[in-house]
Amino acid sequence: MYNIELIREDFPILSREVYGKPLVYLDNGATTQKPRCVVEAITNEYYSVNANVHRGVHFLSQQATELHEASRETVRRFINARSTNEIIFTRGTTESINLLASSFAESQMQAGDEVIVSTMEHHSDIVPWQLQAAKRGIVIKVIPMNDKGELLQDAYKQLFSEKTKLVCVMHVSNVLGTVNPVKEMIAEAHAHGVPVLVDGAQSVPHMKVDVQDLDADFFAFSGHKVYGPTGVGVLYGKEEWLDKLPPYQGGGEMIQSVSFEKTTFNELPFKFEAGTPDYIGTTALAKALDYVTAIGMDQIAAHEHELTQYAMQRLKQIEGMRIFGEAEHKSSVISFLVGNIHHLDMGTLLDRLGIAVRTGHHCAQPLMQRLGIEGTVRASFGLYNTKEEIDILAAGIERVSRMF
Ligand code: PMP
Repeated sequence: MYNIELIREDFPILSREVYGKPLVYLDNGATTQKPRCVVEAITNEYYSVNANVHRGVHFLSQQATELHEASRETVRRFINARSTNEIIFTRGTTESINLLASSFAESQMQAGDEVIVSTMEHHSDIVPWQLQAAKRGIVIKVIPMNDKGELLQDAYKQLFSEKTKLVCVMHVSNVLGTVNPVKEMIAEAHAHGVPVLVDGAQSVPHMKVDVQDLDADFFAFSGHKVYGPTGVGVLYGKEEWLDKLPPYQGGGEMIQSVSFEKTTFNELPFKFEAGTPDYIGTTALAKALDYVTAIGMDQIAAHEHELTQYAMQRLKQIEGMRIFGEAEHKSSVISFLVGNIHHLDMGTLLDRLGIAVRTGHHCAQPLMQRLGIEGTVRASFGLYNTKEEIDILAAGIERVSRMF
């Protein structure tokens, strides 16, 4: 039984009001709200355990280290990695992708080598490669998509050449909600001997992810989008790949020994974790993953699927409604425009009704260019959203439309 009332009680912020109206929070694609247990994990650790990890012989340092490393195991289990050596803690998806782009391009790519990305990528899957392109002369190739927002798989297969070194593709689009067939895309890349980095920022909060089943070589996600704290994220990498790649940043923690003549690097995963990690954040992230696991990722996916179906059908009844993203496999993100109402006006007026949505290009300007628009209004649902909230959204859109 999916007990939505009980679930909502875990999130104190959901019962606040804005402008005297009950909050309807539909900006989960940007960040999710935090259950009480996550916030308490943060305060509890600061109040009763706090000490820097890995370096201390004293009791608190050892306890903090145990919590931090237990969190790595929780992440490993959550995405079904083989080993905790494959779990690198970062600041989030963006840092995970920058780490990989920098380290991979430096060691595996030369001028003229190619990376394949897709039309719908988030800027964080594009710009790190452009930085590498400017530095090393690598080439970016782009998978096109159809008008429903599905990547063209035949065109994808045509993009491979002997110069292709990596594919970087998002699991779920933060704008269209498209669930890309990454398992099949990975198999295709592997048939060409090419590894794949999957941006899982928008999949991990909404569905069960198994990196071994996908056979992903690298997989990135952010804690704050999966009910965890801000400032902590994960880069998963197959151990045989991470072993081969050079460190991203230098400093404490990532070394074995340092002299002015020669420095040797620490073993995995520490080789990629220079400096004091956000050990409070990793504990809280593990709490968030335990929280969603206890509800059940399949139950969450089913609940959100029902909400999305309901919202799609409800919003389509609104006059002048244009929905962007009608892929067959769609996650709980709906981007839209109504008539010629500017997305910013719609978002601002919905906000006055207590409804939090996102407006703009959603860090996907190349996708906006493909769609021939500047931006959209985006409603994105999480595990605590309800059909009543979708009714409030639909009524709000209708009210704003009548004003124009
Ligand atoms: N990729 C996708 C698909 C996203 O939706 C986001 C966040 N909007 C990111 C990457 C970047 O995540 P973060 O800002 O947490 O690093």
